[in-house]
Amino acid sequence: MKIMVPIKRVVDYNVKIRVKADGTGVDLNNVKMSMNPFDEIAVEEAIRLKEAGSATEIVAVSIGPQQAQETIRTALAMGADRGILIKTDTDAEPLTVAKLLKALCAEEKPGLVILGKQAIDNDCNQTGQMLAALLQWPQGTFASKLALSSGKLAVTREVDGGLQTVELNLPAIVTTDLRLNEPRYASLPNIMKAKKKPIDEKTPEALGIDTAPRLKTLKVVEPPKRQSGVKVKTVGELVDKLRNEVGII
Ligand code: AMP
Repeated sequence: MKIMVPIKRVVDYNVKIRVKADGTGVDLNNVKMSMNPFDEIAVEEAIRLKEAGSATEIVAVSIGPQQAQETIRTALAMGADRGILIKTDTDAEPLTVAKLLKALCAEEKPGLVILGKQAIDNDCNQTGQMLAALLQWPQGTFASKLALSSGKLAVTREVDGGLQTVELNLPAIVTTDLRLNEPRYASLPNIMKAKKKPIDEKTPEALGIDTAPRLKTLKVVEPPKRQSGVKVKTVGELVDKLRNEVGII
């Protein structure tokens, strides 16, 4: 079985985001970019399935600018077998990404596509669901455990207040939650080996997909600054402030 893992290049989760002065978006100048953390979990899970003998090949796919090749190299260094870069300088929206992935699935015929549950830059949490709908494949979202046996995939999902396990026929779509696994670091020998692994380049035009945005960002603002706290001397003073100043009791 071939596993496809879509990985997005996003602002590193450690970076303190700065909003552009004109409020049109986030300032990306000289900002460290990395693989979306949920996608690292997806790559790790695909590698574990391959190590367990359930998968034969892992294809990492990224849609983005030329630099997204670096993100693909990271996946190859972790253990993916080959990469595909769908090159576009337009910031592809979830529906566009899902359409591109659908077109790629027609070419690659994976048995399983493992995506992150959300990209930490746009927090959309849409692409996996849209891809499943477009392909009409079953989906197991927010996965915290996968178990493959006799051609069926049991996906334990993190839902409000508990866990739900669903059984999917393959081919299927899975999106990863935080507790699915802890991604490995690439070792130095594997980073060297990854340089020789192939990365194919494609364009949205060649796949017949229009990348023109359908959504317009009206405004991006920073969260309100946190007010500094005050120290109270007595419980009575605290109760008084909560009652008469903050008005919450
Ligand atoms: P989103 O729906 O934007 O929150 O993204 C959910 C998941 O879709 C991500 O974790 C990735 O697995 C995949 N994805 C989204 N955008 C891209 C992209 N530009 N390239 C590759 N995969 C993507």
